[in-house]
Amino acid sequence: MIPSAFEYHAPTSLADAIALLGSLGDEARPLAGGHSLLPMMKLRFAAPGHLVDLGRIPDLRGISEVGSFIHIGAMTTENELVWSALLAEKVPLLVEGARAIADPQVRYRGTVGGDLAHGDPGNDHPALMLALGAGFALRGARGERMVAAADFFHGPYATELQPGEVLTRIEVPIPRTGTGWAYEKLKRKIGDFATAAAAVLLRMDGERVAAVSIVLTNVGPTPLKAADAERALVGQPLDEAALAEAASLAMEICDPVPDQRGDAEYKRAMAGEMTRRALLKARSRAA
Ligand SMILES: Cc1cc2nc3c(=O)[nH]c(=O)nc-3n(C[C@H](O)[C@H](O)[C@H](O)COP(=O)(O)OP(=O)(O)OC[C@H]3O[C@@H](n4cnc5c(N)ncnc54)[C@H](O)[C@@H]3O)c2cc1C
Repeated sequence: MIPSAFEYHAPTSLADAIALLGSLGDEARPLAGGHSLLPMMKLRFAAPGHLVDLGRIPDLRGISEVGSFIHIGAMTTENELVWSALLAEKVPLLVEGARAIADPQVRYRGTVGGDLAHGDPGNDHPALMLALGAGFALRGARGERMVAAADFFHGPYATELQPGEVLTRIEVPIPRTGTGWAYEKLKRKIGDFATAAAAVLLRMDGERVAAVSIVLTNVGPTPLKAADAERALVGQPLDEAALAEAASLAMEICDPVPDQRGDAEYKRAMAGEMTRRALLKARSRAA
């Protein structure tokens, strides 16, 4: 289907983009890689009167180390994450996660900011950023505010972003040296969204779990933090009994929507299995 008519704007500074979005009001939407927004427009699920392209604003791109954080510009593409030497060294979970997204064509255009701002429960970055405890910089006419990933996702396609606001950068705390990581994603084929996936960060103290973060993708209206599973693991050896208990507690919080990827029972079971696999892989990478 052909999208309904819209006007295209291509500002070259963030200030101009924010002024435009402010003056155009609810009729306007930021355009990033277009890999979620344009399909929605073609299906007439979205019909913005104005698109404000963020692609010509250099300030919105790039990955840098700032103190104990990695800053990622919202317009940084998935492919740039995949090939970042800095991320591979400091936050390899994001490299593993970005590699699991879609296919090379989508990864060349799709942006980390667009992936988060879209609020699609099937997207992978929300769980990755929640597991890492990231913060998001949102800028609008009244200035900048920081929002924790834990407070950003309100429901399917609903986020903390207000009309006129732009997600400008993501601030990711660098995990401590020795932290294990894994993103385990079950998908039917290359390019598919997750049937279920689990992001894990894990620190060990000898044979026992010192700290763990577990977040699930596409088994609820938002990314789901498996807080009970995390609590059950801390202080325990990561043996079969602990893994089974964590998987079972993770399954309890799932509320998946049945679709062509499977029914709710299957998806819940797969969320448990992805949790188990991610914990084991993170354990093998933890110092
Ligand atoms: C075939 C296919 C398979 C895919 N598979 C996956 C997958 O497995 N995992 C996954 O995570 N994603 C997947 N995607 C989605 C893809 O990663 C999208 O690129 C991503 O969801 C949106 O990023 P974008 O840059 O294309 O944003 P756009 O489509 O341009 O924008 C998406 C929404 O976010 C808003 N927006 C964008 N940037 C900003 C910003 N900086 N500030 C405020 N609002 C903003 C837009 O207004 C729009 O509402 C897939 C897409 C396709 C087409």
